[in-house]
Amino acid sequence: MNVTDIVARESLAPADGLKVKLRALQAANLRDGDPDRARRLDWLGRIAAMVKEKQNAIITAVDADFGGRSREETLLAEIFTTLSSIHHAKAQLAKWMRPRRRAMDLAFKPARARLLPQPLGVVGIISPWNYPLFLALSPLVGALAAGNRAMVKPSEFTPRTSALLAEMIGQRFADDEVIVVQGGPDVGAAFARLPFDHLLYTGSTNIGRKVMAAAAENLTPVTLELGGKSPAIIGPEAAMDAAVISIVRGKLFNAGQTCVAPDYVLVPKDQVDVFVEKALAVAARFYPDLANNEDYSAIVNQAQYDRLHDMLAEAEAKGARVLAAGSGSGRKMPLTILLETEESMAVRREEIFGPLLPVIPYTDLGAAVAHVNGGARPLALYVYDRNRDNIDRVLRETISGGVVVNDSLLHAGVENLPFGGVGLSGMGQYHGREGFETFSKLKPVMYQSRLNGMWLLHPPYGARAKGLINLLLKR
Ligand code: NAD
Repeated sequence: MNVTDIVARESLAPADGLKVKLRALQAANLRDGDPDRARRLDWLGRIAAMVKEKQNAIITAVDADFGGRSREETLLAEIFTTLSSIHHAKAQLAKWMRPRRRAMDLAFKPARARLLPQPLGVVGIISPWNYPLFLALSPLVGALAAGNRAMVKPSEFTPRTSALLAEMIGQRFADDEVIVVQGGPDVGAAFARLPFDHLLYTGSTNIGRKVMAAAAENLTPVTLELGGKSPAIIGPEAAMDAAVISIVRGKLFNAGQTCVAPDYVLVPKDQVDVFVEKALAVAARFYPDLANNEDYSAIVNQAQYDRLHDMLAEAEAKGARVLAAGSGSGRKMPLTILLETEESMAVRREEIFGPLLPVIPYTDLGAAVAHVNGGARPLALYVYDRNRDNIDRVLRETISGGVVVNDSLLHAGVENLPFGGVGLSGMGQYHGREGFETFSKLKPVMYQSRLNGMWLLHPPYGARAKGLINLLLKR
């Protein structure tokens, strides 16, 4: 065997290992059939117990991975959100699993119709680093509630949290129920090529394209939870103080490393100065002494920090005016407002994913709407106004993955609302009932009645059949 053969064999190894793991999950699924409610509740209960029991270890791992992640942010955005999705799924499961009655079309009566929810089989989940626990476990909750087995590939950029996740799941689930595989882009690429029954990917739009192309080989259906530039619009009649607080809170939570963070803000031209002054003051009040402030999270790694730094430097070099709320240290970056930006700057074209906030003035609400519609369809949109007509106009005339009126971020935690992007911000949806449905086959079943009129249409088509067809066409 020569070196090329060895290299070829080695490079096949991860994919082969993944296939073996997938086969074990598929075989168990075939062997056991659809799990009943008790088994699904048990699965969900195991995840809840694991998260509660290991809460401190999770906080420590995420903190170490970020080089500084606020404990309260981890409690709110990783632990609370995961437990709340489990709580909701457990409470709703009986209702979700029930066959759903559908009305029967007149022409087919007295037959009956139902939708029968069934697990798809084995679900693949690829998750990113920014909320490394929640974004792995939240889709898993939906997949297990729907009765599937699952394979999870968390991010290589949060290695301690990913290793902890693998350990926690490994201790509580058999290898043919749920498994976690760790690795970087090569493992991710091999993972996306596996013939799952459904694949949910959370991450950047660019990798989303690769994932969809890989899944297409097997015609594996995908849910893509991607990113983009989510606008905040301060309407002409906004309550400015409340709007500023909400935008600064949403932008600085996890230091802006949130898929639904307000990316930039559209402000009425004559209120830009007021907005900027208030925003800088709120940021300084929320996070005093930034460098030593444990409530404020760091940028996850040097590469991300450099990316943000380069974006800022380019904007400044091209003439943007830059105002920072204090000074950071290490990878803690202050809220940095950018004025007089232009479309040619990366900060206006690319998703920011950090605490830089371009403020873009507009003349009238129509111009703000046109600005949003001039870009890719965003994952989230935030509109602040006291006038119902202004709010309704923005809701009607823009399209986005989701909206919060008069606040930011919070819709992502509402289990009764589906979550997902549109256009370049993603496709498909999960959370709550829609998550259950994404990971289920809602099988349409028609129950024919013993007494039915089909004999009237049997060939050879005589006068009776022809008369009946004429009657059907007249309706
Ligand atoms: P990332 O770099 O951690 O990548 C995400 C996952 O994709 C990782 O597990 C990675 O290993 C894997 N991956 C890398 N290359 C791959 C390939 N070729 N094939 C398959 N998988 C591969 O995370 P990221 O992409 O930097 O995450 C940040 C992005 O995610 C932002 O754009 C953000 O907006 C978006 N995001 C979206 C949501 C949402 O719910 N819509 C949530 C969080 C983050």
